[in-house]
Amino acid sequence: MYKFGTRSIERLKGVNPDMVKCLEMALAISKCDMTIPWMGGLRSSEDQKSIFEKGNSKCDGYSKKSYHQSGNAADCIPVVGGYSNDKDFRHFAGCMFHVWQKLLKSGEVNGLLEWGGHWQNFIDLPHWQIRL
Ligand SMILES: [Zn+2]
Repeated sequence: MYKFGTRSIERLKGVNPDMVKCLEMALAISKCDMTIPWMGGLRSSEDQKSIFEKGNSKCDGYSKKSYHQSGNAADCIPVVGGYSNDKDFRHFAGCMFHVWQKLLKSGEVNGLLEWGGHWQNFIDLPHWQIRL
C-alpha cells in the first residue's frame, strides 16, 4: 500500500469555495486525514488532456470538459494512519454527503454534490464534483 504524505490543501487553490468548505468540515467529523493528489484541484485544458491520454479520465479537456476545469471538482484521498482503502473512501463519502446536506439546508452552498464512487462504468473514488 502507498503511504500518503501531508494534506496538501494548497492544491485546492481555485476550487469552488463550497467544495473546499465541505471537504474541510467532512474532514473534521471523519476519523481521516486526507491528501489531495497532484492535479486534484483546478486543471487547465492541457492538464486535462495529459490526464486523459494516460487513461485516468474520460474527459479530454477540449471536446469533453472535466468539472476540474471549471473549479467545481476536487479529488480527495482519505487517509487513516498513513494509508487509505475502500472502507475509508466510503466512510469519508458518508461524511461529505452529511455535511453537504447540512450546508444546503442552511443555504451556505449551492448545487448537487456528486461522488465518483457512485459512477457506473468509471469508478473514481477520490473524485467529488458540484453540479450547478
Ligand atoms: Zn477528479
